[in-house]
Amino acid sequence: MTHLPERLLAGYRNFMAGRYSAESDRYRSLAKDGQSPTTMVIACCDSRAAPETIFDAGPGELFVVRNVANLVPPYAPDGQHHGTSAALEFAVQSLKVSSIVVMGHGRCGGIGAALNPSAEPLSPGDFIGKWMGLVAPAAEALSGNLMTAAERQTALERISIRYQVANLRSFPCVKILEGKGRLTLHGAWFDISTGELWVMNPETGDFERPQLK
Ligand SMILES: [Zn+2]
Repeated sequence: MTHLPERLLAGYRNFMAGRYSAESDRYRSLAKDGQSPTTMVIACCDSRAAPETIFDAGPGELFVVRNVANLVPPYAPDGQHHGTSAALEFAVQSLKVSSIVVMGHGRCGGIGAALNPSAEPLSPGDFIGKWMGLVAPAAEALSGNLMTAAERQTALERISIRYQVANLRSFPCVKILEGKGRLTLHGAWFDISTGELWVMNPETGDFERPQLK
């Protein structure tokens, strides 16, 4: 009997023989000198949209926080337990990252839940329902219009990314550093089925395919 799922142990064996062995110097120096990633990514928990995989990032390169539907709750210094805000505070104030990327993705279950608020909660606590309440006004505004369900889903995934970038600016430290030109905020949307990445135009809020050199 093992104390971890066999798939994880097999993966770990491959990691030690492959990546760790190839990058052991890097791991050692990261352990000695600490991490200094320059980019924070706020992504969804979805197993199909892992930022480190999509951006081909090695150890120490990305500071990642993942939550259901890559949301940024607005600044609320109310003494409650704010996991995403804690990660944001650390990234901005201690690591001094120079960019923050909110990355959403296609077929997001959290966004789907926001579009179906009358669905039965998964548990009495309805944590997903409460959490996705952060985009409820946008979800409501999209209901009953001419879009198909799939179009509405993609629209809310992208609209929500714009909301989350705006919520980042509700944090005084983010707003100040962005104003000083020391921090840039970005939005991106990943299409799981095609692998396409769409990037938010900061001026218009539209999503465009980036030029890859
Ligand atoms: Zn998702």
